[in-house]
Amino acid sequence: MSTTVQRLRAEMLARDEGKDTLSPGADYRTLREYNHLLVLNCVRLQGPIARVAIAQQTGLSKTTVSNIIDQLLQDDLVIEGDFVDAAPTGGRRPILVHFNAEIGLILGVEVGYTVLTLITTSLSGEVKSVYTEPFDITIPPVNCLTRVATAIRIFMARYALPWDLIIGIGLGIAAPVNVQSRTLVYPPGEHSWQGIDIAANLSQEFGVPVYVDNNANLAALSEGHYGVGMPYNDYVYVVIGQGIGSGLVRNRQVYRGALGAAGEIGHLAIVPDGPACMCGKHGCLETVADNDAIIDDAIQGRTLFQRGKHGSITPRLANQEEVDINDVLHAASQGDPASQQALAQAGRYVGTAVATMISLLNPQAIILDGVAVRNSPIFYEALRTAAEQLTIPTIWAQTVLTIGQLGDLAVALGAASMVIAAAFTPMSSMSEIPVSSGSMSP
Ligand SMILES: [Zn+2]
Repeated sequence: MSTTVQRLRAEMLARDEGKDTLSPGADYRTLREYNHLLVLNCVRLQGPIARVAIAQQTGLSKTTVSNIIDQLLQDDLVIEGDFVDAAPTGGRRPILVHFNAEIGLILGVEVGYTVLTLITTSLSGEVKSVYTEPFDITIPPVNCLTRVATAIRIFMARYALPWDLIIGIGLGIAAPVNVQSRTLVYPPGEHSWQGIDIAANLSQEFGVPVYVDNNANLAALSEGHYGVGMPYNDYVYVVIGQGIGSGLVRNRQVYRGALGAAGEIGHLAIVPDGPACMCGKHGCLETVADNDAIIDDAIQGRTLFQRGKHGSITPRLANQEEVDINDVLHAASQGDPASQQALAQAGRYVGTAVATMISLLNPQAIILDGVAVRNSPIFYEALRTAAEQLTIPTIWAQTVLTIGQLGDLAVALGAASMVIAAAFTPMSSMSEIPVSSGSMSP
């Protein structure tokens, strides 16, 4: 195994176990480590870059930078490549230092309601391989974690991926996560997840560091790192699928709230005395506007009949078995009024919730995602119109409404990024020192 991959793993595992507390000589050690990471992160985030430019960027002396680069070269964490195009003074042209993103692999996992998505990425977040399989998150947690572990093994075997290269596993799950205790704030189904440390379970199983966060938070961060969120510091990511979730990003960091349950937009009370929700309350947004709610409405023609339109028409999907959201989108595009009304109604409800978010948080942008957002103009237009009508015009005029770019891989990619951030974050004693303006906290 590469000793560098081994060392990165060991450092991350030690941090997780709180073993990096200051010991005699630690001041020197942490300062040295901090300078090391300063240079490495400069190359990683701004490279390819010349040594002299690294010294200017970091404020370290040229000698210190050169010593650190020599060490990083030995560790295979950087490589020296091509020359700078032209030396302005006509002297020797400096060599550019590149980050070696191929030294190891990150495993990113999305534990969704109905699908498991696994990817590997390089250390710069480039997706290398993808694997998905159907899933049911409402099964008991022990079975759930066993299924995830089995899927990881199948994925590794299918692509002949060597464990020696895996630096860590990031996992996004469709439930609010307390990232300190690495437990769920409340479960995704009827079974209790109380006290189950998801990261510790998988870390024991595979011997690599594991990090866990909520799926919408991770998708929000990955849109900020690699997608449409890149220009923004403050934005809200909303995903409409099985359930409705959001990630609130402020200053490029996720806002989590006291327990880790901030952003649970799916449980905003939107219809007084509305349908029963799995959370035990009534009329939550996701009971009237997630994919299941849209499908149900399209089959029954509920909104169509409520709105007093075409009362004698039978919804096109009324007698079809196994209807999914794509069937509703298709029926709507073929002119089925029940499907069209169902999509429009759900869009209006989500738009109402989005307006609430804008009034509360005044984000620069709202990033939307989900099958209906991406593929149904009726849904998107109804959402946009409702949000505009319910937001103060001067604020609305300066709020960007946009659609996510990363699609089905957003969560797994965010999960991988969480591991990358953890691998290149200074020891906790130095953790108040930012790694870069664009990096995520683990
Ligand atoms: Zn609810």
